[in-house]
Amino acid sequence: MTGNTPAERILIGLGIEDPEDIDLEAIAWSEGALVEYRPLLGCDARIIGSTRKAVIAVNSRSSPERRRFSIGHELGHWHHHRGRILLCSKEDVENPRTDALDPERRADEFASDLILPGYLLHPRLKKIKRITLAVVRELGHEFAASLTATIFKIVQSDHFPLVVACYGKQRRRWFTRAAMVPGWWYPVEQLNRATFAADMLFNGGAEQNWPRKMGADAWFNFRNCDRFEIQEQSFLLPGEEVLSILTIPEDGLG
Ligand SMILES: [Zn+2]
Repeated sequence: MTGNTPAERILIGLGIEDPEDIDLEAIAWSEGALVEYRPLLGCDARIIGSTRKAVIAVNSRSSPERRRFSIGHELGHWHHHRGRILLCSKEDVENPRTDALDPERRADEFASDLILPGYLLHPRLKKIKRITLAVVRELGHEFAASLTATIFKIVQSDHFPLVVACYGKQRRRWFTRAAMVPGWWYPVEQLNRATFAADMLFNGGAEQNWPRKMGADAWFNFRNCDRFEIQEQSFLLPGEEVLSILTIPEDGLG
């Protein structure tokens, strides 16, 4: 395994060997930060602190998974951007769209490593043959993480040939791709109406219980991509968005 990230080193230092034991309030406390829950207007979380002590306020109206991610995100700011006051809007927290150098992305990565640490996730992924929504839900439940955070981390782990893309009714919002998948597997700008994702988003179609085969040209448009068949499984997100898990066939990996 490659070196552990700062967030993973904190967990290892606390002797955490089970996702169940990732108590974010206790971890925050061990880092000098007190977590408070209260209704917040216009932001999901914020951190105010000196160089040694901080108070993290988390929006009590958010879902439990969201609150967890927000604490992790603020601890990321505490680790990387100490001494600054940062108000993190809904768009700042858990947003794969932000640029890799953006402080919000760094805070998100820290949260992801704290909630879904590689050293606990990778041994589980090694036992899994293929990624289905059921698998993502089960892992998300075990790590108390949202489906989006869980699938994002699975893609980043590069154990499976996945492209994950999120679409609104107008256009693609973001996508992420496993490092093993070549760059020409670049999802199209607008959702193709032939996809299960479009059926769910536009027609109220039901979620598929299992990944379904689909011509790759419904999702991609590189030359000769119609030679390939991919597998798609999609689920709806709040706010009229759909997230699709696309498995690239082995002969498409170059
Ligand atoms: Zn932030």
